[in-house]
Amino acid sequence: MEIYLLGLILLGLFFLCWGSFLNVVAFRIVQDLPFFRKRSHCPKCDYQIVFYDNIPILSWILLRGKCRKCKEPISILYPFIELLTLVLMLSLTIHTINLGLNYPQNIFYFISYFIFFSALIVATRTDLQAMVIPQLFSLWLVPVGLLYSYLGFLKINFYQSLIGALFGYSILWVTAKLFKFFTKKDGIGVGDMELLCMIGAFLGPIAVWFSLLIASLTGTLIGAIFLYFFSKTNNYCYSKRAKIPFGPFLALGTILFFFFENFLIRLFF
Ligand SMILES: [Zn+2]
Repeated sequence: MEIYLLGLILLGLFFLCWGSFLNVVAFRIVQDLPFFRKRSHCPKCDYQIVFYDNIPILSWILLRGKCRKCKEPISILYPFIELLTLVLMLSLTIHTINLGLNYPQNIFYFISYFIFFSALIVATRTDLQAMVIPQLFSLWLVPVGLLYSYLGFLKINFYQSLIGALFGYSILWVTAKLFKFFTKKDGIGVGDMELLCMIGAFLGPIAVWFSLLIASLTGTLIGAIFLYFFSKTNNYCYSKRAKIPFGPFLALGTILFFFFENFLIRLFF
């Protein structure tokens, strides 16, 4: 039992650092910087961030969310993504252990979904920050999902993966066309289609359906609160222009489906 706990704590520390790394990846994609160029710098004053200001979550709290030198605010997205990575990956670890798969099947299963979750986390951050979902973390992972399902690493078989990917892309493509036809506006981005395509490749068509359902429900709810808040402050121009990223809601739906599949299916059918 103690070894089990110690293992989880060590893994937790690794997941926090991994969350930090995903932050850097997402930030550099949005800013169009190379991944492994040099150490992180403050985007405003170019101050090189020293290691003790780079400790996940803790540094952000100690610095009260500001650059040590120029006091430029550091986005809350940094500690948020680190905490999110910690919680999701620890949940994935415990979920994998509870499945009781044999070695090395359990390792393949864990690594496959570790990659998948990492892509969802990066897409969440880039979509929140800049309303973009990089293809490297959506469309490019579709063949990876197909390969993993073919090799038997995933929850689903190859045909479920293939149908999931096709269904994920086409259901949002059709929705976007219909939305455009009726409202003459663009409501759904290509990035969302590519993200749902990847979700289908790793989890199959039923996951696509539930992710979209949960994303629509929570997205509408949050959107309504958001609009209400901005109309209260009389910032009407802003509320009309404000777009709400859909990717984080798709990721939320996917994660809920991943961990609570049986419960959700019983709830709706
Ligand atoms: Zn600075």
